[in-house]
Amino acid sequence: MQITCWGVRGSLPAPDPKNNRYGGNTSCVSIETEEQILIIDAGTGIRSLGHELVGSMKPIYVVLTHVHSDHVEGFPFFKPLYEASRPIHLVDHVCNNTRWSLLETFDGFHFPLEPGDIPARVQRVRDEAIPFLNESGFDLSRRPVNHPGGAYGYRFSFNGETVVHIPDNEIDPPGDVVLSFDELVEFCAGADVLVHDAQYVRDDLPEKSGWGHSILPDVCRLAREAEVDQLVFFHHDPERTDDALDDMQAQARNTLSEHGIDCTAAYEGLTL
Ligand SMILES: [Zn+2]
Ligand SMILES: [Zn+2]
Repeated sequence: MQITCWGVRGSLPAPDPKNNRYGGNTSCVSIETEEQILIIDAGTGIRSLGHELVGSMKPIYVVLTHVHSDHVEGFPFFKPLYEASRPIHLVDHVCNNTRWSLLETFDGFHFPLEPGDIPARVQRVRDEAIPFLNESGFDLSRRPVNHPGGAYGYRFSFNGETVVHIPDNEIDPPGDVVLSFDELVEFCAGADVLVHDAQYVRDDLPEKSGWGHSILPDVCRLAREAEVDQLVFFHHDPERTDDALDDMQAQARNTLSEHGIDCTAAYEGLTL
């Protein structure tokens, strides 16, 4: 299993010379096995991933954590969509009794093409996401997390290795709690790699409380209590420069190294 981060920024693409090292593209991660590739979220990072996949004809599956724009806006620029007969399975996103497909980004209004113009062999999957993906050969589960409008976090296993990917989640929200801290620890327990939202630092509170994202100290506490091997913190704030991310990474490493946990700020091209 190879996991690659193609977009690690949250909320809004942030191309800027000060952000070049970590990257300015929004949320997109791929999980690739020898037979197929699963893509979680279609933020602007999916454009670079598309270049890598052109010509391979490996089946592609796309699933979403939620439908905020930073998780879907790159989809029309995913090159395999323009390869004739390329098999692409798009799993419908169903959350809070609302169903949505990435094909809706092709509405002829926000983007000039419509679904019928796509050359690839796109299959819209209306089945329940997890049973469908399990039958397709992916060993994964998911849980609703704390995020305005609703979102999911995913847990994957392959050949005894486990990765948990939760790009948007407020560990300690001010209002209703969908996923308690104890439940979150249980969901992440023992993972080899935990990829988790750490968009904010303490100085962002209380202003950003309730916006659906976590502060880094809470994420470090989660990594410790869940006893993961490695923390990759993700969904960087658009205003967070490379230098600021270096500082956050140094602080987190300081906290986690005595517990034997590796820590990295996610960057574009990070492969695990
Ligand atoms: Zn997001
Ligand atoms: Zn979001």
